[in-house]
Amino acid sequence: MSSHLYDVVIVGGGPAGCATAIALHQLGITRVAVVEGSDYSRVRIGESIPPDTRGLFSRLGVWQAFAGQNHQRCLGSYSCWGSDNLGFNDFLFNPRGHGWHLDRLSFDRFLADEVMLRGIDFLSGARFHQLNRDRQHHTIALTGGKSGEKQQLNCRFVVDASGRSASVARCFGARFKTQDTLVCVAGFFHRRELETDLALQHMTLLEAVEHGWWYSAHLPGDRIIAAFASDADIILQQQLKQPENWHRALAQTRHLSKALSLAKLPLRLHTWTAPSALLNPPAGEAWLAVGDAASCYDPISSQGIYKALLGGLNAAPAIAGWLKGDSRPLEHYRQSVGEVFIHYLEQRAYFYQLEQRWHQEAFWQKRRIACGIYQDEAATAVT
Ligand SMILES: Cc1cc2nc3c(=O)[nH]c(=O)nc-3n(C[C@H](O)[C@H](O)[C@H](O)COP(=O)(O)OP(=O)(O)OC[C@H]3O[C@@H](n4cnc5c(N)ncnc54)[C@H](O)[C@@H]3O)c2cc1C
Repeated sequence: MSSHLYDVVIVGGGPAGCATAIALHQLGITRVAVVEGSDYSRVRIGESIPPDTRGLFSRLGVWQAFAGQNHQRCLGSYSCWGSDNLGFNDFLFNPRGHGWHLDRLSFDRFLADEVMLRGIDFLSGARFHQLNRDRQHHTIALTGGKSGEKQQLNCRFVVDASGRSASVARCFGARFKTQDTLVCVAGFFHRRELETDLALQHMTLLEAVEHGWWYSAHLPGDRIIAAFASDADIILQQQLKQPENWHRALAQTRHLSKALSLAKLPLRLHTWTAPSALLNPPAGEAWLAVGDAASCYDPISSQGIYKALLGGLNAAPAIAGWLKGDSRPLEHYRQSVGEVFIHYLEQRAYFYQLEQRWHQEAFWQKRRIACGIYQDEAATAVT
């Protein structure tokens, strides 16, 4: 068993963990290790990022390198929401320019490479297992890693960037307060297998239906993702994890079906849960959570990656302050995660109430109830 002492250990090498590591490095905090449980080989979800993300890439000093990557430009979105007609949101009117549809795996690998380029220790394939705290530091037990042996890291401050598992924060007694949970069933197509409308190649398409909503996006490598978001009981009842049923439901959409002219079934469907949830508390003495470990957003917002990168930029000064003996920035960070979450809930509630065509259907009723009740609860949770 080996042992190291770091100022900061970050558990999770997704967008939030990598952004935190890079931002700490910018502040001169270099005795940092990132622990990543995977080797970035399994399918990841979350591919649309808005134009404003460019500003975050610049602040992190990775904009030029990102621009050299092969991600697909996204020029705007079409949405069928609240009316049978397609609305159009053109990024032409955004001063930041266009957004992107990412090749998500290569994006996450790219950020990990940027961390390593800065000389920060990056332990991939090593999973966080357990944490002990004494007065001086945390002792973090890991399993796996290159050599497969058990490892132990010591650090003064620990960051939970492990995504929705929030496995580090749970050791401090933090728990998610979950407002709502969607289930998303997604299929990937190869563009050559579909007769797609090429005019839509650079657009996101969103379409509300009776029991949920669909979206599709063209990805790098001539791939297309189509995903259906609904409630777990509806997915189960309609057996939408079966490719034939999922495909039939997609074929019944008014706009997506035309845009994709479905010829073939996707090879495989993938299912993810998508909660709206806030970790309580998102920070404490000598630790904080960032990205999805701190708060999870409904994918309708397309804000998860943006939030993860911004969270890393905000977390770094809070950690730097704490390392120097000032805990006020950490307290400010804790407050701001809750405040931003309330703002997100307001936007989400507004968006769901725009759709009134199926207001008596269980899916839409549930969204309205969930949006209303939780705003009050969230306000009390963060004060
Ligand atoms: C269906 C769906 C669609 C979405 N669509 C979008 C979208 O279009 N746009 C968007 O911006 N966002 C989207 N999101 C959200 C987005 O994917 C997340 O918000 C984003 O990935 C959060 O980044 P993160 O770094 O906080 O967490 P993650 O990306 O989950 O990264 C966590 C990292 O921690 C590692 N890890 C976990 N446990 C351990 C452990 N014990 N030890 C070591 N490492 C560990 C994981 O391997 C992973 O690399 C979507 C989410 C869902 C579910």
